[in-house]
Amino acid sequence: MVKEAGVQKRCDKNRKRSKRRAIYCPIHGCHLDSVSQKYTLYTEKPEELQKRGINRQSALMLVASQTAVPLVGEWLEAFWCPHCQQTKWYYVKKLDNRKFEISPAPTALWQQAIGVKSTQGNPSVGEFTLRHSRMNRYQGIKDFIFIG
Ligand SMILES: [Zn+2]
Repeated sequence: MVKEAGVQKRCDKNRKRSKRRAIYCPIHGCHLDSVSQKYTLYTEKPEELQKRGINRQSALMLVASQTAVPLVGEWLEAFWCPHCQQTKWYYVKKLDNRKFEISPAPTALWQQAIGVKSTQGNPSVGEFTLRHSRMNRYQGIKDFIFIG
């Protein structure tokens, strides 16, 4: 039996790192602390699914049957940056187990995450961050109820 030391090592590393993901502030490059749960992104557009490697027919079927199809490995999450002194919403894309790509969440995505189940009167990202950036970093998030 061949012992796969490499695999074992990789697992240990992941376990150690699982508490804090390698997500950094795009401005400061410092570690960001998550202050929200992950909010799944949904799409109603078959093209969006095709872009993610789903064939056209499956994409059409998914959209037809589910209306809002969750995008795997992509979500919205709020992070606190100690340098920005601000909570910001980011669009997070998981590239592999340890790599993430983040970008400030545009309003369109925010609405996409809220879902098609839709929700009048939810604040846009701008309004949301503006309102909550004045508040305590933990307080603000909790009063925002999301449908999932
Ligand atoms: Zn920052």
